[in-house]
This record gives sequence, structure tokens and C-alpha cells, in this order.
Amino acid sequence: MELQFFNTMDRRVEPFRSIHPGEVRMYTCGPTVYNYAHIGNFRAYMFEDLLRRTLEFFGYRVRQVMNLTDVDDKTIRDSRAAGIPLREFTQKYKQAFFEDLKTLNIEPAEVYPAATDHIPQMIRLISILMEKGFGYRAEDGSVYFSIDKFPNYGKLAKIDRENQRSGVRIKNDEYAKDSVADFALWKAWDELDGDVVWDSPWGKGRPGWHIECSAMSSEYLGDSFDIHTGGIDNMFPHHEDEIAQSEAASGKKWVNYWLHCAHLMVNGEKMSKSLGNFYTLRDLEAKGWSGREIRWVLLGAHYRKKLNFTFEALSQARETLGRFDEFFDRLRSISAPGDGSEAEAPVAAAVEAFSAAMADDLNVSEAFAAMFELLRAGNKLADAGTLSAAGAAKILDAFRKFDRIAGCLEPDRVRTVEIPAEVMAMAEARAAARKAKNFAESDRLRAEIAGLGYVVEDAPGGAFRVKKA
Ligand code: AMP
Ligand code: ZN
Repeated sequence: MELQFFNTMDRRVEPFRSIHPGEVRMYTCGPTVYNYAHIGNFRAYMFEDLLRRTLEFFGYRVRQVMNLTDVDDKTIRDSRAAGIPLREFTQKYKQAFFEDLKTLNIEPAEVYPAATDHIPQMIRLISILMEKGFGYRAEDGSVYFSIDKFPNYGKLAKIDRENQRSGVRIKNDEYAKDSVADFALWKAWDELDGDVVWDSPWGKGRPGWHIECSAMSSEYLGDSFDIHTGGIDNMFPHHEDEIAQSEAASGKKWVNYWLHCAHLMVNGEKMSKSLGNFYTLRDLEAKGWSGREIRWVLLGAHYRKKLNFTFEALSQARETLGRFDEFFDRLRSISAPGDGSEAEAPVAAAVEAFSAAMADDLNVSEAFAAMFELLRAGNKLADAGTLSAAGAAKILDAFRKFDRIAGCLEPDRVRTVEIPAEVMAMAEARAAARKAKNFAESDRLRAEIAGLGYVVEDAPGGAFRVKKA
């Protein structure tokens, strides 16, 4: 089955071919560790996880690099405001980030390089750009990239050359498309930087944000690699500037496929720190939602479509995942004999449809529809009493396959439902009544237990099992 992805560079869906057979090298712009990431940020990391898992599903070995931006305008600003040294300040949020990745069952990348550990690589890259004439030093001592020297500038964001203000300089890491300008590679120290400072051939200072990704990607993935990802807001200026730096320095095509995800929205607006309309993972956990439920919600729309976040969606996720739980319990409880051939056709159809949908630019809606189709088919067979243990095992196995990508179905988790002590005591009393052949009393207790939302199932020899109704 051929994989195909929407390549932002060409604005169309293209067949995927890796540079090295069987291996995909992928760079992902990671978090700026100045705060807890919000679930909008996690939509981007979830999309990258989905991409990674899909590549693995189709047999690729993935080498993924996700950087940690632990020095930039924002980290310096906020660590100073908090009166905490930069390293200590960012350490807290790095750790929180890794905890959050676990909560969401996001597969770890192979390398998480931190910017502050790669300053020599950045200085080396800027030196090459200076030697080749792409960089220049301004009066304030900072070093800038001259977009005029790089004719391909704007090819990703499709900026027309006419509106480029070459020679005009912008020092901020973030700026809008209408202020295209020469951007900072190395920022000369000023008092706002405090003690955040490194020596360089151009004097004391610190790197610009964009050079971090160019330097760290080539360090771990080489001068050319397969896939670069990020949220759509990273496309300009960040990714445009990364391309300019990397391709100007190496003279080679840097990245073959650019994949960007659309935003997570709240009431029609992008979820963002600056708008204040955000939830962190911790906020949602404190309200009783699990990582598994949040993961399901974030998977809920195609990565190139905006996804509106609501609590209603979380409730639906709980319900849907509960349906899967019940279904897997049901499959496990089936003990009828048979060769399982009754499940072969629905399993094959579902696996085929699921794989085809994921191969087609990560079409999760269709892939998940195939899972639900198999759930319905399995229940139908079980309702009719024609599902054998072998057939149930085949279906469970298909869901194990799906969960390599979904990462939240958990077909093998046996759920132990906590039964309240009061209900257990009533069930014991009922068992005693049955033993004494006091069936009126045992029926009364059964009804009382049912009224509390539980059922008692009797097993041979007076044993019993209590379940949630
Ligand atoms: P930042 O820490 O601001 O550099 O953002 C980290 C990642 O989250 C980037 O890939 C952003 O594009 C992405 N991002 C930020 N806000 C959202 C959002 N509301 N929806 C989806 N992705 C987002
Ligand atoms: Zn980046």
C-alpha cells in the first residue's frame, strides 16, 4: 500500500518515498519550555505521533528529532519575570512536558536536543552563512540573514518577492507575514538578556530562535532528510527562515515533505497562550478527564482541519471508549468452540479499510469508521451466538493492530471495576440466602443491588461475580 501525504511545499497530496529505504528521518519543532504546554500545542504533538505511528505501522523505522527551545525571547522574558535562572526555569517545564507526553501515550522521539546544549553547532552554522555571504553584522552587533541573497526565500509560505523588505531588519523571534525582513541569526547581548549570554566570533550574545532548528536538525539528521512537521503557525516565519538558513549553508535541498497541522480552536478562535483561552493537560486532569480521553478527542479530526475543543467532546470520548471497553470484555468472555472462520471476512475488510485510510494522508475519520464497523460486526456475531472464542481472538487481534496507531483503545487492559463495600456485603448476604434456599430474600437482595446499578452473576458452586450494570 502506498503512503501519501499532503506536502505543504507543493500544496498537494504526494506519494511518500523516503531517502533511505525503510527508514524515515523526521524533524519536529518542539515546545518552547516557558510554561506548561496547552492542549492546542498537544494537538500538534499528537498529529506528529499519529504520523510517526502510521509510518511504523507501514514498516518504516522512524528516527524523529524533537527540539526543546530553552532559550529564546519568551523563555528569557519569563524567567526574568519569575526571578529564576533560565536553566532552572526551563528545567521545570521540560520535565512537565515529558510527563504530559506519557499521559497522552505519545511515543517518544529518538532525540530531544535542547538548544542550550547546541550553541557551538549554531555558531558553526552562522559562520558558514557569514563565509558564504548570506549573513551580515549590523551596527548593534547582531548578525542577520539577508533574505535578498537567497532567491528562494518565501517558497514555503508563498510570499511574493515584491513585498520583501530586504535590508530592513527584525530582531524579534516572532513576526507577521507582512513584516518580512532580514531576521536575526545571532542577537547581541543587551541588558534584557541578563546573564543569558555566550561568546561568539561576533561578540557576546545568544542565538535567534530559527537557527536552533537548522543547527540541531543537521546535527542529528544530516543536511537532507524526509519530513519536517509543525503547527501551521510555524510555517511563517519559523520554517521559512529555517529553510533559508539550512539550504543557504549546505547548498542542498533540505527537506522533502513538509507537513503542518491545523489549529485546535475554542469558540472559533485559536487556542493560545496570548488569548488566554487555553487548557493545559493538567487543567483537564484536575477536572477528572484522563489522558486516554483527551487523546481520543485530539485524534477526532483530520490533522489539516481545525478542531473545536469542547467538554461535550470529552464526554463523548468517555462514552465511546466505554463502548470499546465493553466490547473487548465481551470478546474475552466468549468461550464457544469453532475455528474462527466466521470472523475472517469482517476482520480482513476492516484491516484493509483502516490501512488504506491511514495511508491516504492520515484519514482518521475513515480509519476509525472501519474500527466501528468491526465492532458492530463482532457484536452482531456475538448476539446471534455464532462467534467462537477463536473468532473473538481474531477480532481482538485486529484491534491490537488498530491500537498501534490509535494508542488509546487498550484492547488488552482488563478493567477492574471497584465495587462499593455496601454492594459486596449485599451480594454476600444474597449468596448466604441462596445457600439457605431462602429465594424470596435472595431475589429481594438482587433487586436492591440492581437498584444501585450492579448485577450479580451466579457461578457454579455458590460462587458469584458482581459487575456494573
Ligand atoms: P510553541 O511552544 O508556541 O512554539 O508551539 C509549539 C507547537 O504547538 C507548534 O508546533 C505550534 O504550531 C503548535 N500550536 C500552538 N498553538 C496551537 C493550536 N491552538 N493548535 C494546534 N497547534 C498549536
Ligand atoms: Zn523549529
